[in-house]
Amino acid sequence: MHELRKTEALIDGVWCALDRRFAVTNPATEDVIAQVSDCGVAETEQAIDAAQRAWPAWSALSSLARSDVLWRWYELVVANQSALAQLLTQEQGKPLAEALGEVLYGASYIRWFAEEARRLDGDVLSLPQSDRRGLVIRQSLGVVAAITPWNFPIAMFARKVAPALAAGCTVVLKPAAETPLSALAVAELALRAGVPKGVFNVVTGTDAPAIGQAMTSHPAVKKLTFTGSTKVGRLLLRQCADAIKRTSMELGGNAPLLVFEDADVDLAVAGTMAAKFRNAGQTCICANRILVHEAIYPRFLQALTRAVDALQQGAGEQEGVTIGPMISAAAVQTTHERVAEAVTQGAIVHRGGFVSPLGESFYPPTILLHVQPSMRVWREELFAPVLPIMTFTTDEQAIALANDTEAGLAAYVFTESRHRCWQVSEALQFGMVGVNETAISSEVIPFGGIKASGSGREGSKYGLADYTELKYICMGGLS
Ligand code: NAP
Repeated sequence: MHELRKTEALIDGVWCALDRRFAVTNPATEDVIAQVSDCGVAETEQAIDAAQRAWPAWSALSSLARSDVLWRWYELVVANQSALAQLLTQEQGKPLAEALGEVLYGASYIRWFAEEARRLDGDVLSLPQSDRRGLVIRQSLGVVAAITPWNFPIAMFARKVAPALAAGCTVVLKPAAETPLSALAVAELALRAGVPKGVFNVVTGTDAPAIGQAMTSHPAVKKLTFTGSTKVGRLLLRQCADAIKRTSMELGGNAPLLVFEDADVDLAVAGTMAAKFRNAGQTCICANRILVHEAIYPRFLQALTRAVDALQQGAGEQEGVTIGPMISAAAVQTTHERVAEAVTQGAIVHRGGFVSPLGESFYPPTILLHVQPSMRVWREELFAPVLPIMTFTTDEQAIALANDTEAGLAAYVFTESRHRCWQVSEALQFGMVGVNETAISSEVIPFGGIKASGSGREGSKYGLADYTELKYICMGGLS
């Protein structure tokens, strides 16, 4: 594992050690596990310049040659899965089994885009004039800047970097300051796979606003791809507006999970557990609001309570642990304040709701009943292992409550009715809907949201298009 533990920024194929450092901690123990180079504007600009220099040669390679490099990268990530998972658990906190799942999930995007790299095809158009033909080709954008969050440090960057490289773009990535080590380790594997110098750069640092400003103001950057909060996404969109840079925004969610009276209760409870407590509730597609039909509510709550009571919370490295810490003590504090606020407004704590004796970064799995739509635990993305539940009586009421949010990322529906599956899925204003299933993500699906959850899609046959420009060529004089 140690050979993959990099603590420097990767600029133009060189690991750059800076005197300025920042500490990375293990959230379960609060131990400092590394001191990492703290880059600023100068290093970000150097990385962008390097990416700009590397772009002509990389984009001119055959798509087969780029695909081969991505394949080698995929194979190296899979070969090093266990070391990567350990590093991920150490800096992020998720249980080892989940970390391993994330490594392979991230790798699946590299593999997928190694395949898709071969399909950058265009079109021949039949024009209204008989003496000319129209061609449409796809060209890579140039330098792409990518900013990723701490909740899925490997998967979120693989979803951006793999399609960008497949399309012939070059990349400057800024990983979250909480979790730079996994990104640096996977970048080291990219170098070993033969990604040429300057094609993929990683800028680590704590002054995110300055790094973001350097990225969005540099003329060589043709696109910004961002995964993170809606608040920062809005800011970056504004910064990209003047130069009209392309953007992809994967922003916050506030997923409703609807359990109808004809649902399979066991399936609905299993789905709720997976959708809520994975990564300690810190995923953008986590079920944030549970809506249960009154007729099925007592059975659902009983089975859900049993499942929540069976969770084992602890440090991610420990055997048998099914839920780890949150990312930081500050995140726990914010969560607890929101729960306490809901209680003062009439919510009832059914499980959890206290500061955990396991440590300052732990928050217990929590179930809140008697929740109202006006409460912040309902209106805002929780990003915590807290489950607010409301009941409903009609489909129309459930759909209206579910759609009553600015977010539009994911939603879940549990019903045995074929008719209702379609009707409700089509009425929900979200980019992704899981019907009787909450494990909805994979490299073959278009991941992304609508409304304030962002724009653009990652993964799938649509994902490569976000990194290419269409060019129309008119060939005349053919009479
Ligand atoms: P965040 O605060 O927005 O941070 C995300 C990234 O943006 C980090 O790398 C952060 O750097 C950087 N950043 C912060 N302020 C910036 C600025 N002014 N300019 C440029 N970059 C800036 O979000 P988070 O709390 O880490 O992540 C959780 C959020 O991400 C949730 O809302 C979640 O729903 C969303 N998310 C969405 C998806 C999706 O696919 N839609 C997937 C995963 C997560 P530092 O770490 O250095 O502050």
